[in-house]
Amino acid sequence: MRRPIVAANWKMHKTVAEAEDFASAFLPKVTDAVDVDVAVAPPFTALVALGRALGGSRIALAAQNVNPEAQGAFTGEISPDMLVDAGCAYGIVGHSERRALYGETDEFVARKALALLGRDIRPIVCVGETLEQRESKRTFAVIGSQLEGSLAGLPAGRAGEIVIAYEPVWAIGTGRTATPDMAQEVHAFIRGALREPFGAAAETIRIQYGGSVKPDNIDALMAQPDIDGALVGGASLDPDAFAGIVNFGAATGSES
Ligand code: PEP
Repeated sequence: MRRPIVAANWKMHKTVAEAEDFASAFLPKVTDAVDVDVAVAPPFTALVALGRALGGSRIALAAQNVNPEAQGAFTGEISPDMLVDAGCAYGIVGHSERRALYGETDEFVARKALALLGRDIRPIVCVGETLEQRESKRTFAVIGSQLEGSLAGLPAGRAGEIVIAYEPVWAIGTGRTATPDMAQEVHAFIRGALREPFGAAAETIRIQYGGSVKPDNIDALMAQPDIDGALVGGASLDPDAFAGIVNFGAATGSES
């Protein structure tokens, strides 16, 4: 049984004070009734302060990016060791914004994921097709190739520590969500593709859906057999909305 994981990706939002205010407002709203891992990825500048503000809670800290090198002349970059130092348990790699805006390749994403695992930080590896790719019926080809490249060299013995985020690019920040059936279709494809490198361990890999997830669509998404959580952008900036997502099931009273 895979334990669901919901992660917030704040992108380039929130100062230290705003991150601390979020923690004070969010923590009392999180119910223990739902069995879910929760992580928040603030900007690098707020990692340490947010870690302190979340201290003692079950909310983990995540990084939005990492450089695979251990140290050196890489101006503006952050190493895996620095993320350990800041208290990160997870690191997002291969987000479509980094792929599109900063030219990150599958090969670079794989190096980042491997470097994170090397420091016992769980990588959240993002994949997803553009609208043009979906409309030209290349979704599975694109996702298959992103997975193959972005997971290259990751040891099968560490499969259970890897999280995949399926984020259709056309659904990110657009208010347009894949229907639960559309998302499930791709998640099932991803699960099948993961069996190639990881064998039976593919069943232990959690696959998040990302793309305009909100409190009012999380339950239907989570009801799908291969959707194991969510990566949340816009709605994660608001403590009420993010709590409504994290408390899925319980939020609507549908949990017994
Ligand atoms: C994201 O960018 O990871 C994301 C899912 O954003 P949003 O929830 O705003 O669509």
